[in-house]
Amino acid sequence: MKHYSIAIDGPAGAGKSTIAKSIAKKLGYIYVDTGAMYRAMALYFIQNNVDINNADQMEEACKKVDVSIEYQNGEQLVILNGENVNGLIRTEQVGNMASLSSVNKSVRLKLVQLQQNLANKENVIMDGRDIGTYVLPNADLKIYLTASTKERAKRRWMELSQKGIACDIDEIEKDIIDRDYRDTTRDFAPLRQAEDAILVDSSNMTIDEVIQSIIEYFNKRV
Ligand code: C5P
Repeated sequence: MKHYSIAIDGPAGAGKSTIAKSIAKKLGYIYVDTGAMYRAMALYFIQNNVDINNADQMEEACKKVDVSIEYQNGEQLVILNGENVNGLIRTEQVGNMASLSSVNKSVRLKLVQLQQNLANKENVIMDGRDIGTYVLPNADLKIYLTASTKERAKRRWMELSQKGIACDIDEIEKDIIDRDYRDTTRDFAPLRQAEDAILVDSSNMTIDEVIQSIIEYFNKRV
């Protein structure tokens, strides 16, 4: 039986997960948050003091670590060596470590396998950085979702401020620029728009407008 797949790639803070989650619900698809998998690996590296600049240590660590995902009421749970780590992976520290360690090829190869297995079994909407270019090159629809760095920093600042977390918008923008740089310049599976991906710039769009436009593209394609 054919399984459908939608790939959503783009830089940090473009709104990929909010949008992908909502589309998954509307279409009855499984939402696969690949960033959460890189975050789980990053958590392991932090907890075990792995030197991410040491290729041998990284290769060894990748052999020991087991990341899998489960679904509970439609929500993705990331399981790291048998433990649900959803509550531990959304910190700045883990996000930074994920950005740095995801450059490593052993880390990527391990997670790509898991992502491809999921897409072989279910209808999925998967978001990340290399989904349309590397993980699911034959996805039925590929979207490259972006927004200006200023707009992405503003959204992130609002999100943190609403949670009562003090933060500086210029610092956030600088962090976003650094993450974009690492994602787009790594040797293996860098972030870039796939040739057959549709570019959606959400800088001046509401979340609902983005969701609507992606669903329309999907209905036209499939
Ligand atoms: O999307 P999120 O911020 O949760 O991802 C955490 C980090 O994982 C990103 O900064 C990015 O460098 C990396 N990542 C990746 N490839 C993916 C998904 C995430 O390199 N497919």
